[in-house]
Amino acid sequence: MSVVKEVMDRVRRMDPDQHEFQQAVIEVLETLEPVAQRHPEFVKAGIFERVVEPERAIQFRVPWVDDKGNVQVNRGFRVQFNNAIGPFKGGIRFHPSVNLNIIKFLGFEQIFKNALTTLPMGGGKGGSDFDPKGKSDGETMRFCQAFMRELFRHIGPETDVPAGDIGVGGREIGYLFGYYKKIRNEHTGVLTGKGLDYGGSLIRPEATGYGTVYFAAEMLKTKNLDFKNKLVAVSGSGNVAQFAIEKVNQMGGKVITVCDSNATVVDETGIDNDKCCFIQELKNTHRGRISEYADKYKTVCYEGKNVWDVIREQGIKVDIALPCATQNEVNGQNAQALVDNGCICVAEGANMPSTPEAIRIYQQNKLLYGPGKAANAGGVATSGLEMSQNSLKLSWTREEVDNRLLIIMKSIHKSCLDAAEAYGKPGDYVMGANIAGFTKVARAMLAFGVV
Ligand code: NDP
Repeated sequence: MSVVKEVMDRVRRMDPDQHEFQQAVIEVLETLEPVAQRHPEFVKAGIFERVVEPERAIQFRVPWVDDKGNVQVNRGFRVQFNNAIGPFKGGIRFHPSVNLNIIKFLGFEQIFKNALTTLPMGGGKGGSDFDPKGKSDGETMRFCQAFMRELFRHIGPETDVPAGDIGVGGREIGYLFGYYKKIRNEHTGVLTGKGLDYGGSLIRPEATGYGTVYFAAEMLKTKNLDFKNKLVAVSGSGNVAQFAIEKVNQMGGKVITVCDSNATVVDETGIDNDKCCFIQELKNTHRGRISEYADKYKTVCYEGKNVWDVIREQGIKVDIALPCATQNEVNGQNAQALVDNGCICVAEGANMPSTPEAIRIYQQNKLLYGPGKAANAGGVATSGLEMSQNSLKLSWTREEVDNRLLIIMKSIHKSCLDAAEAYGKPGDYVMGANIAGFTKVARAMLAFGVV
């Protein structure tokens, strides 16, 4: 049996209940068979076996007091997956669905994504099953402080540098950083996504959404296409979705959908910049529901359905799909509906938003398909730029950071295409992203011996 199959079996056997983690591992390993054949030195050094095991996985108790004076207890995680090419780096997610399986899948993806950025960052991820929805600012602050009360001993600017993810935006990063600074008595670049007044980088909030659209534009360019006058479906209405919409508008496309976990809005007239500002205000300041968009702009709203179900059920035509909400949001049926309705390009702002069946359908139908670890790497790349600015004690201008982001996204796109070509699958971005990310990490692991 090949080493790749052996390792996949081992993961299934060792972590039988960790479905998303298994899915992420299999999706990567399936494309690495030719790497194992071409690089027997990786096989001999046990790189495949080692890369699927986190360096360490920390689980901790997070006790805090709610506004009524009741003691609440949540579970906290930090999975430090791989630091072969730089300090552990990856976001923190606060969502009721968070468990060790979810954090391991995200941490595993992060290793290869970070390697693709060309910046020296290893892979990690963290989070908690805390649900920020419906919590007061005071409750969120006390929770973040309790979370950091344990996390601080595991992180540091040269060790592990967390950032935001679902449920962790500017407000939460402020509370987390403030508490770290207090108990460590140091002001260092230990987190990214910080506010501009205390060490953050311009363009970091925009970076994942902008980067996803830059990546999609690069894919379209290979077919002499662009965003102009294209109908675009975006899912989610959080950080990634908001700035993906902004960038699509700048590039002349028309976004017609958004959603949150309760409902999907379809706005055939297009979500222009004013409407996008409304979504930002609604979600980031008032923390309201997306159905309020439908009330304000008198559009249709489908309760209890995600964007991809609505597109399938209503037969809505879109040219480009940007899933920017959560994992496994696009299933096989939805992918088939996208194909049937004329979609030519899918670029993933979210992590692993397409099921394996959906990916097979994109590939069988020759869609331009940019997997999350390549298409959404702009966020962590700009976190890397924030780390550089913190080390240099300098702040770059908006134009400078945006330009570096664009250059990085173009370079990721090229690395994917080059690796896919070198391994005999031209145009296969899944294979290209996995091989380009993996080989960089594998070479570093090989250099270190068995550690
Ligand atoms: P946010 O919390 O800002 O937004 C998430 C959005 O997705 C919200 O609108 C949320 O709705 C919606 N959502 C969550 N779960 C579901 C669901 N089950 N069905 C429908 N909608 C859902 O998170 P981000 O925008 O930061 O993250 C979105 C995705 O992008 C995640 O996969 C994340 O891992 C990935 N990502 C984020 C990066 C970043 O820099 N922030 C970097 C790279 C990837 P509601 O408001 O109801 O919660």
